[in-house]
Order: sequence, then C-alpha cells, then structure tokens
Amino acid sequence: MRAVECGPVVPSSGAFRPVSPESVRLTGHGFWADRRALNASGILPHAHAWLDRMGWTQNFRDPAHHTGREFTDSEIYKLLEAYCWDDADHSAEIGTLTALVAEAQDKDGYLGTAHGRDGQHARWSDPNFGHELYCLGHLIQAGVAAARTGKAPGLLQVARRAADHVVRIDPGICGHPEIETALVELYRVTGDVRYLEQAAAFVDRRGHRTLPEHEFGWTYFLDDTPVRDATSLRGHAVRALYLAAGAVDVAVETGDTELLAAVVRQFDHTLARRTYLTGGMGSRHQDESFGDDFVLPPDRAYSETCAGVATIMLAHRLLLATGDVRYGDIVERILYNVVATAIADDGRAFFYAHTLHQRTPTEFVPADRAQLRFGGGPRAPFFEVSCCLPNVARLLASLPAYLVTSSAEGVQLHQYASMDVTAGGLTLAVRTRYPDDGDVAIEVRRADQGERVLTLRIPAWAAGATVDGLPVEPGTAVRVRRDFIRGDVVRLHLPVTPRWTRPDPRIDAVRGCVAVEAGPLVMCVESLDARQNLDHLMVDASEAPGAAVVKGRFADPTDARWPYRSNGDDCAHGTPTVVPLVPYHRWARRGPATMRVWLPVMPT
Ligand SMILES: [Zn+2]
Repeated sequence: MRAVECGPVVPSSGAFRPVSPESVRLTGHGFWADRRALNASGILPHAHAWLDRMGWTQNFRDPAHHTGREFTDSEIYKLLEAYCWDDADHSAEIGTLTALVAEAQDKDGYLGTAHGRDGQHARWSDPNFGHELYCLGHLIQAGVAAARTGKAPGLLQVARRAADHVVRIDPGICGHPEIETALVELYRVTGDVRYLEQAAAFVDRRGHRTLPEHEFGWTYFLDDTPVRDATSLRGHAVRALYLAAGAVDVAVETGDTELLAAVVRQFDHTLARRTYLTGGMGSRHQDESFGDDFVLPPDRAYSETCAGVATIMLAHRLLLATGDVRYGDIVERILYNVVATAIADDGRAFFYAHTLHQRTPTEFVPADRAQLRFGGGPRAPFFEVSCCLPNVARLLASLPAYLVTSSAEGVQLHQYASMDVTAGGLTLAVRTRYPDDGDVAIEVRRADQGERVLTLRIPAWAAGATVDGLPVEPGTAVRVRRDFIRGDVVRLHLPVTPRWTRPDPRIDAVRGCVAVEAGPLVMCVESLDARQNLDHLMVDASEAPGAAVVKGRFADPTDARWPYRSNGDDCAHGTPTVVPLVPYHRWARRGPATMRVWLPVMPT
C-alpha cells in the first residue's frame, strides 16, 4: 500500500499547509482514537449494511428499479470516501463498490441512478431537488480520496468522466451546492483548469434567482443574493455551508481576495449571531435552515449533524487560507458537542438533529427500522434521508488531517489529543487525557536543524491557560520559537474545570439562563440523574458550578387554565437540590430521558 499523500483539502497556497493523515497518528486510547476505532469496527460496517438493506447499492446494478430518494447515490460515494481515508483495510468493500459505481456510468460520462431512464424524471429536469450535481460532487470527492490514498484504482477516472460530462453540458446550478468544492479539489488533483473554471462559474452564477421559484423561497437555495454580496450564511444550513466551502476553495485558487473576504464576513456574522452553544447551525426545522440573527431556541434546535460536518469543512478551509487559529475553536466545539453527540456507543445509531432541550422523554427506536427522516427523539439506526451517517464516517476517517497543519517555519497544533506528529520539521509525541484533563505534554522526538516554531491554539474559553507555566491569552496562538532538540518538552495547561456560560441577551429564548461548560464540553442535566421535571429547575449561579453538579431548586409551578398572569411563580420556595451534570455528548445513552443545556437562574 502506498503512502497517503495528503488529506481531503490541499490548497495550492495559503497561510498553513495541510498535513497528510498519515503524519498524524492518534495513539492509544483517547477521545478521538476510540471514536476512529469505532468508525472502522462499527460505523462503517453499519452504514454499509444499511445502504445494502435499503437497496441503495442495488440501485447501481438495477437503476430501472430505483429505490429511495433522488440523492441516495451520494451516500454510497461518501461511504467510499470514508473507506479510503480510514486506516483499516477495507479493500474488499472498496473494490466491490468501485466496480458497482463504474459499471453504472453511462457512455457519455453521466452517472446517476435516479434520473434519465424509462419511468424516471429526465436528466437535469429538476434543478431545485434533483440533486444530480450534488451526487456527482460526492463522487468526485470519493475519486479525490481514491487518488490520494491509492486505495480505489479506477475511481478517479470514473469521477473525471463525470466531471468532464458536467463541464461539457454545463447544466446550470444545482439546488444543493456540493460540487463546487469537489470540482476545485479535482482541479488540485489533476491540474485540469476546466474543473476550477466550472466551480467558479457555479459560485458566481448563484444568487441571481435563476432556480425555479419554490415555497421555501430562493434563500433556501442561496439563490437570493450573490455569494460575494451576502452578509451572513442563511437558508438551508448544509447547502449554505457547502457553498461557502466551495467559494473559499475557488477564492484561494483564483486569488480572489474579494470572494474570500465575503465568506469570512459571512462566517463571522454567522458565528456571532446564528450558532448554538454546541457549535450547531440551523434553528428552523421546516426548511432545515438558519434562523434570523439570535433566533436560537434550544428546544427547537435543528442543528443537523451534516451542518456540523460542513462547518468543520468550512472552518478548516478558512484556517488554511488565513492562518487565523481561532477557526480551530469552532472545529473543536463541533467535534465534541455535535459529532461526538451524534454517534451511539456501538456506532450503530445516530442523531440527525441535535436539540439542546428535550422536554418529553426520548423513546427507544427499533434497531431494525429506518426512521422517516428526522422526527426528534433518540439516536436511530438509519433514516430514509441518511446524509449524516456517512458524513460522520468520512469526517472521522479523515480526522487527523483536521488536527494539525504545517508551514515553512514549523507546525501548528489546532486540536489536542494523544498523537504522534511529523510535520513542519518536527516529530512530536503529544500526550494528554484531554478533555478529561487539561494538561498536554508535547515532547520533541526529532527536530530539523535551526529554529522551528511550535504554534499552539489557546481556545477562547481557556482563561488561566499556561504554556510552560507562563500565563497565555485565551483566543490566541502561542508561538514557541526554539532551536528544538530531541527530548524538549513543551507543557500546555488548559483549565477544564466547569464554568458558567451566559448567552447574549438578544438570544431571547435563553435570556435569564446559564449553561455549564467544562473545557470544550458543553454540559447538560438529564432527568435520569435529576429524577424530577427538569422544566421546573432553576439554578443558583451565585457561586461556581461544582465539578459535576449545579445547585438549585425545583420549583412547583401552578397549573392554571391560562399560562399568563400578573404575578409569576416564585421558585424561591421550591425544593433545594443538587443536580448532576453530564457532558452533552453523553446524553440519551442510558435510556429515555429529558435533558436541558440552558438552565434558568433563580431570582436573587
Ligand atoms: Zn445530514
């Protein structure tokens, strides 16, 4: 097996360079090492079995009897991409799926099992919801993974034939962006500038209301305002984030600083006004979209798992392009509070959406039945719309590429985990129990001659952080410049004791509430521990939260014919209580439960 050359995103220029997944090895047992192992042993086989069971792999053999929605091909491509990036040997599965996909390609390069045959809609007849370019985008990303890992011979050629077909017929924009970022990466692999030009055309064409009008409006499709004129991400969250990632890729490869600045502006706005504490994006269920500024109700949080994955994709691209390490903060937040939350302990069920407040107990769902899209409640084995499961699988498989970057002067550590790193002229052994413990020891195992710079991201939440015992500023990059020699150790300390977090008062839905965070972990209370109605809980925020508890009272609100009155209930008379906290990513793992992240504060 040849060496993996590089990861999913390899810009030709930028402040930081991506590292090969092979140059970052998660070691031993740790938060992410365990989840990557689970990906190989649980998530990937589970996803593959369900894609077979649903008939979606069979669609490639027998497209005339297509089953499932119009985007099911994309799940097979994402699974293929995940198999390529993963460390374990999946050669048998890769071989089978690659042959299946190649066989289904038409002579003209078109590839799609849901359109163009007797009884199906014609090719390109439904730009809003046909998802044809969307699916091909995922095929291309799988082809890129195949080319860079050498694990799926022939798949890049299939992807190129499909991309050539797209360039030749130029079918207009797709209701669901995704192909933009894929085409730029295909350009990076092949050097064929037509793919970059096509991606740039797709980005520039959007926003001029050329898609057919739909009840969700043009905003849903990001066809309301040109990318370079928009002020915020908006509309369907996953579509918006994929498009923004593609726009960054185009901007970087064409030197379009105006376009890059536009995406930076929109993402900054979105982080400041449209993002949940967990890093989740999207507060509207009806159209899976962003809400207006500060519309972030915890009990109606949509926060699709895919939007989390897509935000990591976008933030990583911006990190590489700009060198602003603060993008690592949102990556960390999503990894621990969206991605980790999505996956069941055995890797065989997952969350599609992520509420921050479950008012009625979750219910068990049968392990042998696909759920109809997202319906709330617990992790489910599979959904009829199953974008999230293979998306998590491909992210976990390629995760090492998101943890570390390099530059001419040295190496940058953006995320902290026990790992061996070789990049930027340094070989490092990073050892930590993070996030259970905030101590990170970085030992130099080998160093090139001369001064090197080891850059460490200090999260914005990390008040009291130190490097080698000296205080450092949260929300910055600490640069340790040294003539490193073997045996040098740099010690980072990040305080992970629980702390109160208060919302911007403009987030009306949680005004007067606090949350607890511990290091990168958002905490929550779960009814299994509290054993009382969590909607009656009010907490005493006058002193710091305990190691794993908050103090408060369970009020006894009055039921009445009308829920509004001149005098509110005074919870000061409620029963004093001490309520255990659990990391949000652990919730709904022990059985049906209610849960809340934001806790109303007792009046003083
Ligand atoms: Zn999804």
